[in-house]
Amino acid sequence: MTRDQLAAALVEAEVCAPHQARMRTDQLWRWVHHRGVTDFDQMTNVAKETRARLAERFTLARPEVVDRQISRDGSRKWLIRFAPGIEAETVYIPDVGRAGALCVSSQVGCTLNCSFCHTGTQALVRNLTAGEIVAQVQIARDDLGEWPSDREDRRLSNVVFMGMGEPLYNLDNVADAMDVISDNEGLALSRRRITVSTSGVVPELKALGERTQAMLAISLHATNDALRNELVPINKRYPLAELMAAIRAYPGLSNARRVTFEYVMLKGVNDSPAEARALVQLLKGVPAKINLIPFNPWPGSPYVCSDWGTIEAFAAIINKAGYASPIRTPRGRDILAACGQLRSESQKMRASERRRLAAS
Ligand code: SAH
Ligand code: SF4
Repeated sequence: MTRDQLAAALVEAEVCAPHQARMRTDQLWRWVHHRGVTDFDQMTNVAKETRARLAERFTLARPEVVDRQISRDGSRKWLIRFAPGIEAETVYIPDVGRAGALCVSSQVGCTLNCSFCHTGTQALVRNLTAGEIVAQVQIARDDLGEWPSDREDRRLSNVVFMGMGEPLYNLDNVADAMDVISDNEGLALSRRRITVSTSGVVPELKALGERTQAMLAISLHATNDALRNELVPINKRYPLAELMAAIRAYPGLSNARRVTFEYVMLKGVNDSPAEARALVQLLKGVPAKINLIPFNPWPGSPYVCSDWGTIEAFAAIINKAGYASPIRTPRGRDILAACGQLRSESQKMRASERRRLAAS
């Protein structure tokens, strides 16, 4: 819940009168999002009767972590069960951003099917709620031992919406979740350290910027419509010219707040020097940095990663044109936690099937 939703829920549940709602919200907020408590009885400055009332009507329990893997490189991946049959993955990557980044999922599965992405092979099961997105951050904080959340030495400093799903097809929940995780009295992750990556849902870009002030990342991957239609099929609906116009109009764009363009390196597909030059042309005048992502294979994937020399030559061309072009070191490949490798076994079910599963 956002602060407003929490205040309304407390009044509705008769935990407090409307004129006390703000104060009560402030008090509970500190416990939940600053301290990370999972039991109302830990709220020592709340009267016993009030704690009992809260426990009757609400829960602070985390969703269940059904699997946890740690990579040789220190990345961690959690498979989280939000409800029966509703599972998604979250990854913590050390030494990214200021200290370390958490890659969160916004949907279980994805409606889009980019040809190089493992998540794209899983049909959309459903959107995650704002609470389920926030819970991913809380679970990471639990596991990293980072409560209270304003610790100087914290290892979770950045959040990237680069896990499963297309965040702009779930913008309401993503925006609410960002309100919660960026709140200074709580998880206190600065909006400037929260990045939302999209495959290019053009009509939602403006709303994303206005509502969240998120740093923007665009999954570009190709510099002409013919190839992008093949790799990122949403391009058929919103072709490059429209996408680039919407990016140029992204609220708050400046040299201090540049767009990140993600570009996956696929051997013999999009990695020629001519394409690097086309990329420079395409981005002319856009405050940008280009993140080259070595392709991460997954079981049955139809591509091969470009050779290292090819990636470096590609980076050099972009760099010479004045753009930062870091090559993203693959992290967590050994546990299928790298970009584009996330997936869960959850499937779309009829509501009746899901009820049966929940009851069993
Ligand atoms: N749906 C959003 C958020 C996911 S971000 C989006 O597409 O932007 C995940 C990033 O990893 C995207 O840039 C995606 O294009 C990229 N990616 C997907 N599969 C990949 C793979 N196998 N290897 C490397 N990068 C991949
Ligand atoms: Fe969905 Fe993004 Fe994967 Fe494309 S790259 S299938 S939009 S998660």
